This record gives sequence, C-alpha cells and structure tokens, in this order.
Amino acid sequence: MTHIYDLGVIGGGVHGATVALFAARGGMDVALFDRGPLCREASGVNAGTLTMQMTRVALIPYALKAHAMWASAREWLGHDVGVVVCDGLSIAFTEGEAEILSFRAGKRREAGAPIELVTGARAKAIEPGLSNDILLAGYCRIDGFANAYLTGLAYRNALLQAGVHLNEGTPVLGVERENDYFALRTRTRTVRVRRIVLAGGVWIEPMLAWLGVRLPIRTLVNQLAVTERIAPVMRTVVGIASGLLSLKQYPHGTVVIGGGWQGIGDRDRGGVELVPDRLVGNVRLACHAIPALRGARLARAWAGLEAETSDALPAVGPIPGVPNAYVCGSVHSGYTSGPYFARLLADLILGHEPEMPLFPIDRMLASPNATATV
Ligand SMILES: Cc1cc2nc3c(=O)[nH]c(=O)nc-3n(C[C@H](O)[C@H](O)[C@H](O)COP(=O)(O)OP(=O)(O)OC[C@H]3O[C@@H](n4cnc5c(N)ncnc54)[C@H](O)[C@@H]3O)c2cc1C
Repeated sequence: MTHIYDLGVIGGGVHGATVALFAARGGMDVALFDRGPLCREASGVNAGTLTMQMTRVALIPYALKAHAMWASAREWLGHDVGVVVCDGLSIAFTEGEAEILSFRAGKRREAGAPIELVTGARAKAIEPGLSNDILLAGYCRIDGFANAYLTGLAYRNALLQAGVHLNEGTPVLGVERENDYFALRTRTRTVRVRRIVLAGGVWIEPMLAWLGVRLPIRTLVNQLAVTERIAPVMRTVVGIASGLLSLKQYPHGTVVIGGGWQGIGDRDRGGVELVPDRLVGNVRLACHAIPALRGARLARAWAGLEAETSDALPAVGPIPGVPNAYVCGSVHSGYTSGPYFARLLADLILGHEPEMPLFPIDRMLASPNATATV
C-alpha cells in the first residue's frame, strides 16, 4: 500500500527546514524535498546578520523571539551555526540620514526593540573601528550574526535525528489534489502527503500556481563580498540609516560586506551576475564606515535571491481555498526571523494555537497592489 506522509514540505531553506523539524518533533511523519542540498539558496548565501535595525517594524516582536532562538541554537537545533551575539550600530553620516535614523529607530523602539540613539562620539566609544565622521547612531544590544554556510549542515543533522525523510536533489515538479491528500510529482516518483507546506523562497510564486493561487513575489538579487582574513578591525555589527550597508567581522578575521546592492538575476534562470560598479559602491561605503578596511583585499563576491511580497510582509499561513495547504516564506530579514515564523506555522499544523499571529496571504489576494511598510 502507498505510504502517505502526514506532511510534505517543499523547499529546504530555513523556513521549510524549521517547519519540518518542529512538525517531526511534534510527532508527524514528515518528508522534506529540496531540488538541491538543504539551505544552499538564500538561507546559505546570506550575510548572516541577526538584526533588529534592518527588520520591518511590524516584525520586531517576531525578530526578538527569533534572535533568542538563534542565541540558543545549540539547544533547539542541536548544532552550531557560529552564532555570535554582539552590539549593533546603525550609523548616520549626514543630517538627512540622521533624520531617517531617528524616525526608524523610534518606530522600532515603540515596537519593542531596545534601540537608543547615541552621538557619534558615543558610537565610536562602542565601536572604536568607526570613522570619526558619524553624526548619530542607533545602538541596539540585541544584534549579532551567524555563519550562513553552516546552516544546511546543522539542519541536516537535526532533521535526520528528528526522523524527517530527507529528499535532497529532488525537485518537485508539480502538486495535485487527490481525494484527501496531495500528490507530489518528482522526476522518478509520486509521493503522497496529507498536508503540504510550500517554502520555496523566491520560487513560492510558481509553487502556489500549482494550486491555482496567483501571488506575485518580487525577486531581489542581493550582492555580498568578503575580505581576506585580517586583524580585528571591528567588534559590532554595523549598518547605515539608508539600509545600504551591513558589516561584521567573523571570529576568524574575514569581514562580510553587504547592504542589498542589487546584482542581476531571476528565479527562472536561477543564476546570478554581479554588477561590479555597485559592488565598488558598497565596498567604498564600508571603508568610509570602518577606515581600517581600506587596507584589506576582497577574497570573493557573490549574490543570492531574496523574496518579497507586494507589502514586504511575510507570506506565512494557510493557503486560502486549499485545505491542509500552507505557505511559509517572504519574511523580511528572513534569516533572522524565519525560524520563529516557521515554528509558529508548525504549531498551527500540529493543532496548537501559535503564540503570535501568522501573516496569511489572503490580504494580498484581496488587494494585490498593497504597498510596502517601514
Ligand atoms: C544575499 C542575501 C543576503 C541576505 N542577508 C540577510 C541577513 O543578513 N539577515 C537576514 O535576516 N536575512 C538576510 N537575507 C534574507 C534571508 O536569507 C532569506 O529571507 C531567507 O534565507 C529565506 O529562506 P527561505 O527558506 O524562505 O528560502 P530559501 O533559502 O531560498 O529556500 C528555498 C528552497 O526552495 C528550494 N526549491 C525551489 N524550488 C523547488 C522545487 N520545485 N522543488 C524542491 N525544492 C525547491 C530551493 O532549492 C531552496 O533551497 C539575505 C538574503 C540574500 C539573498
């Protein structure tokens, strides 16, 4: 007789892998599918910042919970992803940036993020590596970073220990409803599951189309660069009011430079191309913020695809009109907050009331042109 899983999860980034992990620990028989290795798209190539200052205001309460999850990753994930908890500074060089910073820091503080505004001199006392030209900074003690490259390895071990049936290198080609279950088509077989979670990152849009649901998902192509190993030049995570910079130095000495400077790429083609002029702009800004970086050489640059809904808020919850089908993704600063959102969804699937509200996609189906929030 054909085996029917309790849950099939399609997409093995932080969202899909976390739903699968908690559902399996809650007693479900779970199969997880990824067309490649686990966490090798956005969840494995991101900048690893665990941030409040880059997180959308509405998501701050979730990001606080998520940060606590990452800080205790050894307990719930059981494996190390190189999490470093440290201070974070969002800096302003100009009056215009200071104004943006004050407004955004105020909103995030109201939402619960412990961000205080500090003078340039105080920022420099917190982060001696900073430029002398800082006017104002947002200072948050709840910040930090992880090593995104370790994410897949950590989840693979945890998922196998939890008894999840892992199918890496297995693209799902389509999903059909058959009586009380879903039939997932792969290249070699059809797998039957009672419930499904679509967690395909930027590929959520074509996945939802399998079920007749149209939800536009924008693809961002974020570029990153990393320096060679250098002597310590900074001890905090540094961003900028405009959002165009993220900087941190890993314990082994490399500095990762990001800030969402866009490359070229799309989800259908899959590949990405760097735009050197924009990388240079990103690196110049980094050297302006931390002058000691001027002597460092870049070791590598790359890009990855990040998903964004029309209102820049998550797509996490049941899929309208399709019983037992769920979507999980498009979370802004999704490496930081993704695991917490996914755990909430796993709770719902297990029949428990999630401790915070989800972000069902009904709102965007009713109003496809909703605009982005702060
Ligand atoms: C360059 C970059 C830097 C970033 N920096 C940060 C940061 O510093 N801090 C932060 O909080 N967030 C950051 N983000 C955002 C964060 O990485 C993402 O929000 C998060 O990782 C998304 O996770 P996901 O599980 O939704 O998607 P993904 O990690 O993209 O996972 C989706 C998975 O679905 C699989 N898949 C697709 N189609 C199929 C199919 N047909 N069958 C089977 N599997 C399929 C893919 O192979 C992939 O593994 C960054 C993103 C990028 C790209």
